[in-house]
Amino acid sequence: MDFTIPTEIRDLTALVRRFVDEEILPVERTVLERGFGAAQVEIERLRGWLREQGLLAPHMPREWGGGGLSLLDFAPLSEVLGRSVIGHYVFNVQAPDAGNMELLLHHGSDEQRERWLRPLVAGDIRSCFGMTEPEFPGSNPVWLGTTARRDGGDYVIDGHKWFTSAADGAVFCIVMAVTNPEAPSPYARASQIVMPTDAPGFEIVQNLPVMGERGEGWMSHAEVRLNGVRVPSANRIGVEGSGFALAQERLGPGRIHHCMRWLGICERAFDLMCERAATRELSPGRPLGSRQIVQAWIAESRAEIDAARLLVLRTAWRIDREGAAAARDDVSLIKFHTAGVLQRVLDRAIQTHGALGLTELTPLAFWWRHERGARIYDGADEVHKTAVAKRILERYGMKREKA
Ligand SMILES: Cc1cc2nc3c(=O)[nH]c(=O)nc-3n(C[C@H](O)[C@H](O)[C@H](O)COP(=O)(O)OP(=O)(O)OC[C@H]3O[C@@H](n4cnc5c(N)ncnc54)[C@H](O)[C@@H]3O)c2cc1C
Repeated sequence: MDFTIPTEIRDLTALVRRFVDEEILPVERTVLERGFGAAQVEIERLRGWLREQGLLAPHMPREWGGGGLSLLDFAPLSEVLGRSVIGHYVFNVQAPDAGNMELLLHHGSDEQRERWLRPLVAGDIRSCFGMTEPEFPGSNPVWLGTTARRDGGDYVIDGHKWFTSAADGAVFCIVMAVTNPEAPSPYARASQIVMPTDAPGFEIVQNLPVMGERGEGWMSHAEVRLNGVRVPSANRIGVEGSGFALAQERLGPGRIHHCMRWLGICERAFDLMCERAATRELSPGRPLGSRQIVQAWIAESRAEIDAARLLVLRTAWRIDREGAAAARDDVSLIKFHTAGVLQRVLDRAIQTHGALGLTELTPLAFWWRHERGARIYDGADEVHKTAVAKRILERYGMKREKA
């Protein structure tokens, strides 16, 4: 394994770091004080400049309008963007669009890619991904209530979704629905289907109140009803019944994006924690950082962030070389491990700031609210731990459980 960052990527990362500090952080202030909508015009101005420089969607191939970076090359960039609550959005590599781009790139038909992928990469439209349902456990995604029934050349889709992130304002939703209820394997019953959000019957019931916020636009998590929505069967991605396999594949690189973003958050929280510990005096001449307990938080955070980064880079390296399927265990390990590091580092940073850490005067409280979900979305901690442990135990002779 060689994690040497190529010179051009190092230069690009330094440029992006300056852009985050000088251009994005002032706009972030507006988001923290007045919400995402209040910053929309400024964000579009920044995106316009990045578009001209060919820097939007750096993880996508150039032929589709992206920057053409591999996962490993994109990793340091993603980390730097994670330093701001809107960094990924400004560069058009935010969830769920980044994952949808990867899905369409690798599995979309030519027509789907022209119609949906190209404008998505250009940042002209947004999308969402509808898999989770209120009545069924998201942790068992082969058990779904949403159905897609064939009717001539169309599917007619009925169902109830929630936590459809960024649905408010999205132009299309990739919906996971059961197309083959009789398939012997539960893993072969669902398909992923591109559904325009202006199709009759697509209904956003509400933006869910999450951690005290309703969210808006890209920052929303919607409850959605699909009331007999009719879409051409040509909108299905891949072969019928491949929905679960595609969801797994979509989540591999997606988890690298999340983990690197979380490490960027950790680094900014770490900077804020150290600045505060070095300058906040408990009594004249006695900074908070002179206390051993605070020193321990700093040392532990440093070790945890650096170790997590190595684990994530190893996973990106493996996905680039061997594909997402070969890196299944690695992806599970980084998902729960990095989410845990994120939570611990944020908690220590908030504690170091005292009451200030709970205000919107730093991004810490925003991240505390918005990133608690890191241990739940894209597979809860427990799901990843049990999945990886079972595969390890099988190598030690434990029999595989029946699905
Ligand atoms: C911020 C956020 C954004 C999201 N965005 C999207 C989105 O855009 N699209 C989408 O489709 N979904 C989205 N989700 C939903 C997410 O994928 C689900 O919440 C997740 O899969 C867990 O499903 P659940 O909430 O139904 O919990 P459940 O499946 O009901 O599980 C509840 C808890 O049970 C425990 N548990 C579950 N399985 C096991 C097990 N095998 N062993 C031990 N313990 C277990 C875990 O602790 C888990 O947290 C989002 C969620 C959040 C929080």
